[in-house]
Amino acid sequence: MIDFKKFFPIFQNNPNVVFLDSGASAQKPEFVINAMNDFYKKDYANIHRGLYNLSQVASSLYDEARDKVKLFIGAKYKEEIVFTKGTTEAINLLAYSFSKILKKGDVVFLTELEHHANLIPWQEVAKYNGIVLKFIPILDNGELDYDWFENNISSEVKLVCMSGQSNVIGFKNDIERVVRVAHNFGAKVIIDGAQLISHFKIDVETLNVDFLAFSGHKIYGPTGIGVLYGKKELLDMLPPYQVGGDMVEKVSFDKTIFKKTPEKFEAGTPPIVETIGLGYAIDFLNEFSMDFIEKEAFELTKYAIEKIADVKNVRLISHRNSNAVISFVVDGVSSFDIASFLAMKNICVRVGKHCAEPLHNKLGIDSSIRLSLGIYNDKRDIDIFVNELEHAISLILGK
Ligand code: PLP
Repeated sequence: MIDFKKFFPIFQNNPNVVFLDSGASAQKPEFVINAMNDFYKKDYANIHRGLYNLSQVASSLYDEARDKVKLFIGAKYKEEIVFTKGTTEAINLLAYSFSKILKKGDVVFLTELEHHANLIPWQEVAKYNGIVLKFIPILDNGELDYDWFENNISSEVKLVCMSGQSNVIGFKNDIERVVRVAHNFGAKVIIDGAQLISHFKIDVETLNVDFLAFSGHKIYGPTGIGVLYGKKELLDMLPPYQVGGDMVEKVSFDKTIFKKTPEKFEAGTPPIVETIGLGYAIDFLNEFSMDFIEKEAFELTKYAIEKIADVKNVRLISHRNSNAVISFVVDGVSSFDIASFLAMKNICVRVGKHCAEPLHNKLGIDSSIRLSLGIYNDKRDIDIFVNELEHAISLILGK
């Protein structure tokens, strides 16, 4: 058993903290923090602009980060890796660019599970373009109703935009099935991989997804950097999202010729240090392998779910297929009261609607408590959490 906490200075500096909120943002390994610091101290310069040595070194480290991402997700070409600020920006990019292509009456499928980041950008497109949004419903157990999907898809559906892993219920959706059916009807599939990427080994070629968006800060990298993967022929076809310096081939007062992908989508000075930091976070994960991380997370999730299910008055929203994301409510007790009590005990969980308000409405709940596991969590964290949860419930209910 590896003691992962020792790689993360936050735990040496806060030995009493039980951190169960990695789904919001994961802690950073010393390796990544030091590598980013070293880059600032030794090699920092803007990229792709200077002939001097510092700029050449910075440029090659930045370019290497793109190669690392490409290998990490199994993409075919490095041109398929576009750097963005995060998942939210990657999906906004797609929504904006597709808004130039989709026509009135075209249908976009979303699901009832979506995070606001994969809902609101499409609502905005619908408001101005007249596209129609339809939602793949969830079943009573929270899983997607794939029969509904298969019975309702038609050639009018141009895009299917779906989270790879729900940030509330916590299981992985059947991406392969959705891709197979969507492609039969000529629809492209966009996967919001914000949660998926931290807990599962992803191979975009095998999954055959058309687009995948994720954030660096959820895989132990810095904030301010994310990735949009897209099949090269599709990225070639899409217009740029933002325009400005560094993404142009030729500019005159009358018109501009853009570079090809990925530069076409990366206007302005990019988050250089953060991009390089993401590359180091991937190096860190590769040390242990995503297969190992996925297996460990499943085991700890199973342990946590069994213990939490046994706590009096708890109603789980997650279930046995959930991985690393566990949400629940406590009948008769406000989720906020419980989370406040846990906060006083240095236990970090998320409370509220987790940026998935329509899903909470659908589930008929006002808010929920969410634990989300990182590679540094262990059974001891779960035991402390469950103990304090029981403590909070008995205090609040006065028993
Ligand atoms: N999608 C899902 C499923 C998420 O869980 C999150 C963040 O929690 C996002 C999108 C947005 O990610 P970011 O805030 O890093 O852009």
